[in-house]
Amino acid sequence: MRRLLKRVGWWLLLVLLLSATLLLLARSRDFQLFGQLVSHLDTHEPVVALTFDDGPSEQFTPQVLAILARYQVKATFFVTGREASQHSAMAKAIVAAGHQLGNHSWSHPRLVFRSYAVITNEIERTDIAIRQAGYLGPIYFRPPYGKKLLLLPWYLKQHQRVTVTWNVEADADLGVDADTIAQQVVAQVKPGSIVLLHVMYASREASRAALPSIIEGLQAKGYRLVTMAEMLQDSQP
Ligand SMILES: [Zn+2]
Repeated sequence: MRRLLKRVGWWLLLVLLLSATLLLLARSRDFQLFGQLVSHLDTHEPVVALTFDDGPSEQFTPQVLAILARYQVKATFFVTGREASQHSAMAKAIVAAGHQLGNHSWSHPRLVFRSYAVITNEIERTDIAIRQAGYLGPIYFRPPYGKKLLLLPWYLKQHQRVTVTWNVEADADLGVDADTIAQQVVAQVKPGSIVLLHVMYASREASRAALPSIIEGLQAKGYRLVTMAEMLQDSQP
């Protein structure tokens, strides 16, 4: 009996360790099992990339574009295919203003423990929506919730796709005020940083309000704000 309990105990420990490893792997922002993943650029050049997740939305895309235009700054928008096709005029406006579009899946599911067919569909439908918006540059992928495990990285490697995560995020929790978001972003950015901001929904007023201070703060520190393709010096479609 005691021997049985001991054996069950070892199995339990093994299962727990395995689960913890998988969880860490799925959440890691700078490691995945296959394919190229970029969370920041190793450089001494004062460059930083602003990246916006989700959307586009009818209401808030014009506001964000107006702020970027005011400072003559280019950024990267990781849009969902569903929203990019629902609000195709907004996706086109992003491209027309010279910004980069990235692929954030079609419907924003957690792409962990999903079939290869589901992953393929989520990504490739979104590519079509991005091209329909007139975007011609390289299409990088950002996993919804930053989550990836086995099949998603495998798909991305098979299709030579670059995964872009981030190393600065100050608006992960709702309820943080604009000043705090701006201060944290400006304080955390280093040469080669990739900043993630959520600016597309009504609940993200603070992030939109923080955007001018973030740009001013980074420019005051001598940073050049670039798109992801510029940061990676990638001109391939
Ligand atoms: Zn997202």
